[in-house]
Amino acid sequence: MNSNLTVTGTGDALFLAPFPKEYDQKLKQLADFINACDVKITNLETNLTDYQFFASAYSGGTWLNTRTKDLDHLLKFGFNYFGNANNHAFDYSYDGLLSTIDTLDARNLKHSGTGRSLEDAQKPAFIQAENGVISAIIAVDASFEVASKAGRATHDIKARPGVNYLRHESAFKINEEDLAKLKDIAQKTRINYNHDRLIQTGYETADPEGVFVFGKTKFTTNQNEPETKCNKDDLNRIIGTIQEAKQKADYVFVVVHCHTNDNVREENPAEYLIEFAHACIDNGAAAIFGGGCHRLRPVELYKNKPIFYSLGDFIYQGLKVEFLPADFMEKYGIDIYSTAEEALYARSKGHTIGLHCNKLNYQTVLPKLVFNNQELIEFSMLPVYLNFHRKDDFNGLPEIATGDEAEEILEILGGLSKSYGLDLILKDGMIIPA
Ligand SMILES: [Zn+2]
Repeated sequence: MNSNLTVTGTGDALFLAPFPKEYDQKLKQLADFINACDVKITNLETNLTDYQFFASAYSGGTWLNTRTKDLDHLLKFGFNYFGNANNHAFDYSYDGLLSTIDTLDARNLKHSGTGRSLEDAQKPAFIQAENGVISAIIAVDASFEVASKAGRATHDIKARPGVNYLRHESAFKINEEDLAKLKDIAQKTRINYNHDRLIQTGYETADPEGVFVFGKTKFTTNQNEPETKCNKDDLNRIIGTIQEAKQKADYVFVVVHCHTNDNVREENPAEYLIEFAHACIDNGAAAIFGGGCHRLRPVELYKNKPIFYSLGDFIYQGLKVEFLPADFMEKYGIDIYSTAEEALYARSKGHTIGLHCNKLNYQTVLPKLVFNNQELIEFSMLPVYLNFHRKDDFNGLPEIATGDEAEEILEILGGLSKSYGLDLILKDGMIIPA
């Protein structure tokens, strides 16, 4: 019996509105590719509600929501797994987060990354392929606001709904001379007065050793430490869930949402994301599907297991958001009763800046990974283009990239992946290792 497992996964499905009828043919071509796989992963970067809930005081950038009935459109691609752990999962607070879960559950769709408790949010989704091979999928949010963290129950206090989170610590590296200057400024401005007072009175925990806190930002003179690293408790907790999942499944896949870069270039993953991805694979994960920054980041074959640091956007309908709360209008100095369209116009300075003005946010790949007996035996990526040039309802919708568009995607991904030891070429319409 064939014991192969074929897996695909997308970047962010920032899916907000129905697709036009004329898009059917292009969609079908992608759906055929996706449906040829056993495990079909997407990151659902929206909430599923009918605007019956209040908005959070903050959002993942724009308050994202999709009408529950419109989910049918996304399902046409054939996905059988939805990652919920991302920075938009809490845009409509606890009600919105739970509504998204309930909407997916009502249709018997597999998902993970959010839940009614931390235990629930970190639980994998299990998918059994027709040949019996079982996959477990864990989703992790590595860029989140603290209020969206799922929490554990104690004997006396109930569990808190939220996302499965990975925190990180960061400290900028400086030399002794600059540290002395910073300390001098801190003393003159008294920027740390309350910080120090709260530590002295036990309301804040002490700063890590070798770290100087200036206001809210940490600095270190230790040049050997990475600038960012995973929070040890979270990393160990997530690794525990991978090891446990490996007992019940043949393969474990991790979907991670991370906006953070290395403070040098948006395409460069933060050091803690690299640390996290490697640790997941060291502990049994078979592939890592990253997203978050809305554009492609490098691909690495680590121990012959693929890490997609970011697959970019699979769908980008950022301008299709139906309503936005007063908080958004206030931020951009417009009337709170403005339409979402007017608000987005104001934020993007007349559609001259923002994600929808950059073609890099409209270029992605759909990986096809074939595993057998724990080994990756086939690895290729379908180049996909999100119709950046179109100003109609096709804008932000994916289609298979060919010709110059495919070459351009190869050039971007190939350039990024080279320093991770991976040379890529385009062959028969697919991007593959050279
Ligand atoms: Zn995001």
